[in-house]
Amino acid sequence: MQCPDCGDTRTRVIDTETSTDGSSVRRRRECQRCSFRFTTYERPEWDSLQVKKRDGSIEPFERGKLRVGIKRAVEKREVTDDAVTAIVDAVENSLQDRQTRIINSSLIGELVSEQLRDVDKVAYIRFVSVYKAFSEPEEFLRELDAVLDAEVDDFEPPS
Ligand SMILES: [Zn+2]
Repeated sequence: MQCPDCGDTRTRVIDTETSTDGSSVRRRRECQRCSFRFTTYERPEWDSLQVKKRDGSIEPFERGKLRVGIKRAVEKREVTDDAVTAIVDAVENSLQDRQTRIINSSLIGELVSEQLRDVDKVAYIRFVSVYKAFSEPEEFLRELDAVLDAEVDDFEPPS
């Protein structure tokens, strides 16, 4: 870790403290060259991911929130908890692979719906109707048609 004052790389940790929620580590460092003292915060890279919402505000990505959104969509459907976790994992991995650390909420919505579409069609429709916030019933019906069409395309007649 480079000293912010003189730029020397020989700094040593003089104090380490974990935040009360356990999500970050605070370190007090001292430059061995100029004795300048500074603080660094260490947190998992994942925590630095931010979500840009439709209204333009930015908030940290939370796996729990994603999970709640999916759970709501699969309510009373035969979708196991493991399947929900698998969707959360898949979406999270996909976001992690991206260069950008600020993710549009609409992208997350698309990734989730892609996954849900394969798992449960009803849950998929419920989910997209929320994340796309359909303003017109026609929009909703178009989406529904697209799903039903895809289902017919997927159908393979027995040979
Ligand atoms: Zn220094």
